[in-house]
Amino acid sequence: MSIQDNINALHDKLDHGNCLLVAVSKTKPVEDIMEAYDMGHRDFGENKVQELVQKFDTLPKDIKWHMIGHLQRNKVKAIAPFVHLIHAVDSLKLLKEINKQGEKNNRSISCLLQVHIAEEQTKFGFSENELHQLLASQEISNLNSVNITGLMGMATNSTHDSLVRSEFRKLHSFFNECKKYETSNIHFTELSTGMSSDYHIATDEGSTIVRLGSVIFGERN
Ligand SMILES: *Cc1c(COP(=O)(O)O)cnc(C)c1O
Repeated sequence: MSIQDNINALHDKLDHGNCLLVAVSKTKPVEDIMEAYDMGHRDFGENKVQELVQKFDTLPKDIKWHMIGHLQRNKVKAIAPFVHLIHAVDSLKLLKEINKQGEKNNRSISCLLQVHIAEEQTKFGFSENELHQLLASQEISNLNSVNITGLMGMATNSTHDSLVRSEFRKLHSFFNECKKYETSNIHFTELSTGMSSDYHIATDEGSTIVRLGSVIFGERN
């Protein structure tokens, strides 16, 4: 199966859920991205700033670049001029830096807040309580150069579908609860959940964006 075949097969599956497919191209060469681009695919995801910037410089400018990985504050500046959506905002400090860089670039940068939903200790993200506090605070509503469009979460890396499903379901219900905090720059329209191993569950449980790498481009080294 070619990259294009893989994307076509995914479109058939995802259409039912009205879900955006972000093709996760990390570690893959620009030729692979162009194969997807040539069939009209425009949304690509990377998890490292340096690689993201290099690919942005090389590739057509109508690509929508998604920063899906953990982002350090000192690296926001490099992607602020062009990034389409930052998926994994996990602190107010980071959000403030994104706001500052958005201001400098005269644009409003779209962000998702990452929620910690997995059992693993290592995964980044806010707890539900932390987010309730943050979303209710005056501080967040003053950040006029960020546009919060929803939440992102990663389920436990597990073959137990029922565990993964319950994590996605809980996040979806929290996402709906968050709608009460909507303001001019905070909206809850996007829920970024689902990777190659669990997107079939995520789309059942309210996902509006899936981030898929290996099912499109093959396994990474
Ligand atoms: C790598 C990555 C993905 C895609 O992983 P696959 O298993 O290859 O689909 C999705 N989300 C994040 C945050 C990633 O780092």
